[in-house]
Amino acid sequence: MLKGRLIKGIGGFYYVDIAGRIYECKARGIFRQMKITPLVGDDVKISIIDETNKKGVIEEILERRTELIRPTVANVDQAIIVFAVTQPEPNLVLLDRFLVLAENEELDIVICFNKIDLLQNNEYTSFVDIYTSAGYDVVLTTAKEEDSIKQLKEMLLDKISVFAGPSGVGKSTLLNKIHPELKLQTGELSEKTSRGKHTTRHVELISIENHGWVVDTPGFSSLNLDFIEEEDLQLLFPEFSAHIEECRFTSCLHMDEPSCGVKKAIKSGIINEKRYNSYLQLIEEIRNNRRY
Ligand code: GDP
Ligand code: ZN
Repeated sequence: MLKGRLIKGIGGFYYVDIAGRIYECKARGIFRQMKITPLVGDDVKISIIDETNKKGVIEEILERRTELIRPTVANVDQAIIVFAVTQPEPNLVLLDRFLVLAENEELDIVICFNKIDLLQNNEYTSFVDIYTSAGYDVVLTTAKEEDSIKQLKEMLLDKISVFAGPSGVGKSTLLNKIHPELKLQTGELSEKTSRGKHTTRHVELISIENHGWVVDTPGFSSLNLDFIEEEDLQLLFPEFSAHIEECRFTSCLHMDEPSCGVKKAIKSGIINEKRYNSYLQLIEEIRNNRRY
């Protein structure tokens, strides 16, 4: 048996990549009996039934490290959260929401600020600093310059990555640059949705020069945080963790409680106030939705 990665599934056929060769596979009936569906991203073992026509059978699905829903992809390692430095103006609460969702899936995270060609350097350093000081990897890109794409591409090596972010920030443009054969539609939202509605999209993994994979469909299409418990939200703001021990109450939510380590860190400028404000806004939202 040979080990490969499932990159696409259509109409009961699964396409498995083994070192750049793609095999069209059926899954063994046993999977259906066990109610297991092979997922894009799965590491699988196949037996070859026809080498010339590249046909095989999936015999085994290896244990999944992660399982993302919407799009449904197994073994995603990393989220590339894309925001534009302008056009549209970055909404940092929305960025923090994407970060919380990616943290919750325990993914590695890269924040990609795109469209830096539209601003002077000193016009975006302030919000880049917010995220680097929170401990995040930040990459600055412009689809207009090959060099900045190169740096992004390097961050995709040896991982399965999913791009996420609001529409209009340049996700499709960047993906097309990374993998020119992809030809995703870019441009105005209205143009994209008018066509997109009636075409069924099958999620697919795109190979980055055989050393990494990118999901061709943006992740986190639902930005709902209702499934997160209010006391767990703080764990999804990684820069809070070093200060939580200093809170007087172990149940501290860092809101109105006295002797709060997190609030002390905000006062002394170690934790950024904007990040804290996002935290407050998101915890309120989780609370309000629970009341119904
Ligand atoms: P998506 O909705 O996130 O997939 O965004 P698109 O890739 O469709 O890009 C939205 C618009 O922004 C398109 O008109 C792109 O040409 C434009 N765009 C994308 N990246 C850049 C960039 O780096 N600089 C500039 N100036 N425009 C960009
Ligand atoms: Zn506290």
